[in-house]
Formats: sequence, structure tokens, C-alpha cells
Amino acid sequence: MKFGGTSVGSVQGLLSVKKIVEAQEESVIVVVSALSGITDQLYKVATLASNGDENYLNEYQSMLQRHIEVINAVVPENKINNVLELVKIQFNDLSNILRGLFLIKDTSPKIIDTIVSYGESVSSIIVANAIEDAVHFESKNFIKTIHQFDKHVVDFPTTNALIKERFVKKNKVSVCGGFISSDSTTNYITNLGRGGSDYTAAILAAALNASILEIWTDVDGFMTADPRIISNTYVIEKLSFSEAMELCNFGAKVIYPPTIFPVFHKNIPVIIKNTFNPDAKGTYISQEKEREVSKAIKGISSINDTSLITIQGLGMVGVIGVNYRIFRTLAKNGISVFLVSQASSENTTSIGVRNTDSELAVKVLRNEFEAEIAQGEIDNIFSEDDLATVAIVGDNMKRTPGIAGKLFGTLGKNGINVIACAQGASETNISFVTDRKSLRKALNVIHDSFFLSEYQVLNVFVVGIGTVGSNLLEQIKKQQPKLMVQNGLKLNVVGIASSKKMLFVREGIDLENYRENLNTNGLDASAAKICQEVLQMNIFNSVFVDCTANQDIAALYQALLENNTSVVAANKLAASSSFKNYNTLKEISRRKGVKFLFETNVGAGLPIINTMNSLINSGDHIQKMQAVLSGTLNFIFNTISSEIKLSKAILMAKEAGFSEPDPRIDLSGKDVVRKLVILAREAGYPVEQEDVIKKLFIPDKYFEGSLEDFWKTVSDLDDDFEEKRAKLVANGKRWRFVATMEMGHCEVGLQEVDSLHPFYDLQGSNNIVLITTERYNEYPMMIKGYGAGASVTAAGVFSDIISIANIR
Ligand code: ADP
Ligand code: ASP
Ligand code: MG
Repeated sequence: MKFGGTSVGSVQGLLSVKKIVEAQEESVIVVVSALSGITDQLYKVATLASNGDENYLNEYQSMLQRHIEVINAVVPENKINNVLELVKIQFNDLSNILRGLFLIKDTSPKIIDTIVSYGESVSSIIVANAIEDAVHFESKNFIKTIHQFDKHVVDFPTTNALIKERFVKKNKVSVCGGFISSDSTTNYITNLGRGGSDYTAAILAAALNASILEIWTDVDGFMTADPRIISNTYVIEKLSFSEAMELCNFGAKVIYPPTIFPVFHKNIPVIIKNTFNPDAKGTYISQEKEREVSKAIKGISSINDTSLITIQGLGMVGVIGVNYRIFRTLAKNGISVFLVSQASSENTTSIGVRNTDSELAVKVLRNEFEAEIAQGEIDNIFSEDDLATVAIVGDNMKRTPGIAGKLFGTLGKNGINVIACAQGASETNISFVTDRKSLRKALNVIHDSFFLSEYQVLNVFVVGIGTVGSNLLEQIKKQQPKLMVQNGLKLNVVGIASSKKMLFVREGIDLENYRENLNTNGLDASAAKICQEVLQMNIFNSVFVDCTANQDIAALYQALLENNTSVVAANKLAASSSFKNYNTLKEISRRKGVKFLFETNVGAGLPIINTMNSLINSGDHIQKMQAVLSGTLNFIFNTISSEIKLSKAILMAKEAGFSEPDPRIDLSGKDVVRKLVILAREAGYPVEQEDVIKKLFIPDKYFEGSLEDFWKTVSDLDDDFEEKRAKLVANGKRWRFVATMEMGHCEVGLQEVDSLHPFYDLQGSNNIVLITTERYNEYPMMIKGYGAGASVTAAGVFSDIISIANIR
């Protein structure tokens, strides 16, 4: 079993290690890595000393101190002095080497390798003494390396023979340090590379035919993706060797990549366990392939440090040996390649390497192909840096068609650009390269769309927390748990903005007290700042919800849609603006695969636009529409009586919250015109607001002055109005403010309807729409109900949001 850095990095971890080992019944070999962070600190101290920086002494002291504290806490009392003595001897040697380095400023790899070996040297002494009856072994005496391609690689024949020799007698507990090795010929200290303790343990397990290799670390097992980058990962219970190899090869740093090979060849299962939670099941890695085909992909791994080297030129087409030369050159220079992508036309080959290797790779390849470049057969060899590589892994991918399509479709829909991609013929891995800044988003969308997570996430920004916006947040808060349980949908409100403040929290805002939170933690808001924040967050599956009536916010939609954020608008200003703008927004959303929805622009929560779309999509044609679309005007005409005059009824509509803040927007028919224009456009007619003929009932001069003037003078209309009303009632009729569209011709105006007309009995602030189509001809389709009010409007917005989620 091997205990990683974090496990032995704290007193709690070490005590846990002691308990785990002492509870073992079989004989065990314990491989220990350095206390967490110590290897990094040793590299740092070496750099400081070799730069002649005296601060190396402080760093050295802090390491010594940390080890002394650990010894005092975990070693049995009777052995403490003895262990302190042993460890101090080690530190003394280290101090001498550092002093030498400080004086002569030599930075040969030999010295650095010696210095960094002290981490494991010391920690293994501590662990060997903390555990009862444990015998300590020096790994440099049996893990042997040879120098190949600028790297130390394990000399297996020698190593295996030495291990068998050293461990011939079975101690109950043997302890050795991981990571450290020594050169087969010179005996100089070397190491197996960063994270190499895992490898040490695997080498020992394979050489001695162990029954199992246990890797004890600080996570419950192999997670579906790097838990430091995304939050909704979970532990994978079982992996095949090939899946584990693909996952860790590709940067899922739970285990050091070469670890799997030795145990795979011997068919020794590996279990990853958490020192801090030993009861968790962990991840079991074995030869067994999982039969369950419900999950095509098992895990996602990623490297955020990628450069792509591209070799381009028509002279490469059909020429044999180019690839051989590329890889030979890179190998000779110790550059490891983890992704290759070449189109069948063969005129470009792209190679993924680590950022630190990119400069050298370009240099050596340019040298190798100097002649071809001079002759123009190869145009150029260049690198793109600061990229990231992502791989999806799973044995079942080969049995499931459409995985690549789904992967790239999902990425495209979220605006993630794929720079290069590769799929091995084994079909256990599809990898692609993208911008580093898109990495988090990419991992999230893939995780989400392959249903690796128990739920799907929709990230919502709500702008405007007036009556509709705050009602919406209230409804979301109430519905969140149910959507999660019944629909596997997590609605995550990640941004809230009022006209003054804005707040953005990637993990989601608690809707219990968002107002206080916004007031205390919010930044000053403006449309531009909101847009900037949303785009910068670059969050996946996101929806921008506009509950304002603001022109500046409506002007943001284009940029948002372009950046793959869907838009749900209660705000009518965009959909009723110029036809050109309306059309552009629709076109962008189609192109980007996101949605621009505005059901509540007409008839609040009534499903008018959705119904029209369904009719049209199924091949029907909308010929005519007649509608009462103003809740305010309908309320006014239903309220006026001999006692309640026109001006009073207007005031009542405002006080009841039906009218726009400035009721003239309703009285002038402007609001109805906007709605009619939107309906006509959705019906397929390219109408502008100016095209609508208006037959108003309030003379224009009342709309010209200020709002204050209006309130002062509006009662002048009362008597005349009452006279007309009395006549109307005597004739058994009622007034309705009706919007009509017939084959694209639009009109709004006051109409008198008798008791046989479907509009006659329209109560309160209700709306009604009659839709005449090719199919609904003799008897038009009728939609009727509340046409205004915060809760129904908010519900309509909510339903638009849900329709974006595409619930399972
Ligand atoms: P140790 O010190 O025990 O050797 P490492 O730091 O080498 O541990 O590896 C464990 C760490 O790997 C975890 O703490 C986690 O941050 C990281 N990690 C990266 N990808 C994954 C993944 N897919 N599943 C689990 N852990 C991961
Ligand atoms: N201590 C070494 C490192 O930090 C090896 C290991 O942790 O496995 O790289
Ligand atoms: Mg490790």
C-alpha cells in the first residue's frame, strides 16, 4: 500500500495511516511519500541556495520544524528521541549539501535529485517508527533507473531482482520511501518523477506478486472529473485498467500515470482509498470490464497546460517518413507527446505537448525539417500556447454510436471552440484541445450532457427585481427542490441585478436572503457592467432573464446570444424594436443553438406565442388575429360606470399594478401596438410599429406634456366619455380596445362589441386572442385568461426558462 503526500502531511493523516496499517492482517509493504508540500519546498530551497539567496535557511528551518512537530505527535514516546536523532542526521546532511550549493552555485540535476530525495527519506523513517513492529527499507537500494532520452526510466530487470532479494523474508510491516531511486551504474540518487511514489508502490506490488495495490490519498477515489475544477463530480466505483490508464494518462492526477502498467501486466487490482475517510468504498481498478452500458463515458480528464505544435505544408502529403521523423526528433529531446491529430489530407499534423516543452519542440522540429522549410515543402512549424486538453474516457464508448457527435454538438452549443481533436482506434478515449480559459466550461458541459452527474444544471441570471423579477425568484426558490428531485434539474441562480446593484456567484445565490446579499455584497450595476460580468463568467448552460422594461438591457441580447447565453425576456423592447433587430436576434440564436424566448411579451403567462409557433411548425398558416391585449385598457373599460369616471378608472388601474408606470403607454395604444407587432412577426409578417394604424380614444394633446400635466388634465375627458358610455350601454354594447392583424395588415382601436361577440364577456384585466388559420378557419382558435399581473407573468418567464433546460 502507498500513502500519498496529503495522507502523511498532517498529524491526523499520519495517525490514520498508523491505524490502517496496524489493522492489516496480511503482511504489507508501506510506501510513503513526502509530507505534503515538502517536495515543492525542497525544490524551492535548492533554487534559493543555488541563487545565493540566504532565505534558503528560513525555508530549511521551517521544514525541520514541521518534521519535529510531526514526530512529537505521532511517534510513541519511548522512541521519540531516537527518531529525532535519526531525522536530525538527515537534516544535517541536507543542510551541508545546501550550504555547498549556496557557496558554489551549482545546479546540476544530480544535486537537485539528491536534495529532493530527503522528503521521502525522512517521512519514511517517521512512519516506520510510528507503526508498531515495522521494518524500514531504503528504496534507493532496490529501485534502479537508467538514463534514457534525458529521463530516468526504471531498470526493471535489475529492480525486480533486487526487490525479490530484499523482501525475501516477509515482515508483517515493511516501510520505504516512494519516489526515490538510484542510477544502476553510478548509484547516484535519482527519482521517478513528480508524484512517483505511486509508481514505487506499483513496482513493488508487481515484483512481489502482491494480492492488491492500495493507493491511499485524500479523495474518496477516482472522480468523474477533477474535483478542483468542477463541483458536481462523484466517485467512480469501478474502472478497468485501460480506463484508469486513459484517465490518469491525461492529467487526472489521482495517480501517477505509469503506475498502472506494472500491476496491469500482473493483473493485480488497484484500489484508491481516502486516508481521511477509510470507510468509503473507493475506486476499484481491475481487468474486469463493466457490463452496464448505461454510461458510455466513465470519466473526463484534463490538462490545463497544453501547447499545440503544428507542422503544415503541401510537401508532406503522401511523403513517407515525415511522422517518423517528427516523433523521433521529439523523443530524442525528451519531449513527450500526448495528442496527435492529422487529417487524411496529411497536409497538417498537430501535436499536443506541455507548455514547458513547446519552445524546444518548435526549435528541434525546425532544425529537423530545415531543408523542407527552405524548399517550401513545409510552410511553417509553429506553436499555440496556453491551451487545455480534455479527454472523455470509457470502455463502453466503442459500443455506443454518436458519442463524438454529442460531445462536439454540446461544445458547439456552448460556444467552446475545438482547436484539434483525436480519437484512438481503441475508441476508449476522445480528446480535444481548446482554449485554457474555456476549460472549466468545457468540463462542466460535458459532465452535464453525458449525465455523469445526478442532475443537469441550468445557470440563470435574473436582471430586474421589481414585481415580476422578485416573483420569479420566489417561484424559483419554491420549485428548486422539486425540479431537482423529479426532473434532475438544478436551477442555479448565478447572478441577480437590480437597477442599482449586481451580484454574481458561480456556485449559486441563496434565494432566501438575496436582497440583503445584493445590498451588502453587490457591486454598482449598469447594463454594460452586467454584460461584462456575464460574459467574463463564461458559465455553461446559461440563461439571461430580463425582467426590466429597460432599453439598455434589451440592447445586450445580441452580445449575450453571440456568446451562447440564451435570453428570456419579459421586456418587450427587443422583440418589438425594428424588424431588422428582431430578425438578427432570432438568426443569432438559431446559429448559436441557444434560445431567445419572450412568451410573456404578449398576454403575460398565456401560451400565445408558443401556440402560434406550434401551429406554424406543423405547417399551418396564420391568416388573421383579433385580440384584446391590454389588461389595463380592459380593466378601465370594465370599471368605468356612472360613478367611476374615466380618470378615476385610470388611476385605479395604475394602483392595482396593471398599467405601465406611465399609464399613457397603455392609453396611447403604444403597449398594444408593441404586442401586435410581435404577434404579427411571429405569425410570419415583417411588420414595423409604424405600419400599425391607430384609432385612439384619447386626443393626442394629452400625451404631449409631462406625466404630471396628464394627471392634472385627464379629468377634462370624463363628462364627454360618460355621455358616450351611457349611450353604448343603452344599446347593449361594450367597449374593447382591439388589435387586429389580417395578412400582415395591422390596426389597433376602440371597438363596440355586442353581447354575441366573444370579446363582450372579458372580465377584469383579462386578455383574449382569436387566431384564424388555414386549419382553424370557420371557428378560430381562442386563448383567454389573465393578461397581466406579476405572478402569472413570472410564471410565464419561468416556463420559458424551463423550456430551455430540456428536462429529462
Ligand atoms: P497524494 O498526495 O495522495 O499522492 P495527489 O495530490 O497526487 O495525492 O492526488 C490526489 C488529488 O488528485 C486529489 O486531491 C484531487 O485534487 C486530484 N484529482 C485530479 N483529478 C481527479 C479525479 N478525476 N478524481 C479524483 N481526484 C482528482
Ligand atoms: N513527493 C513526491 C512529489 O511530490 C512524490 C509523490 O508525492 O508521490 O512529487
Ligand atoms: Mg500523488
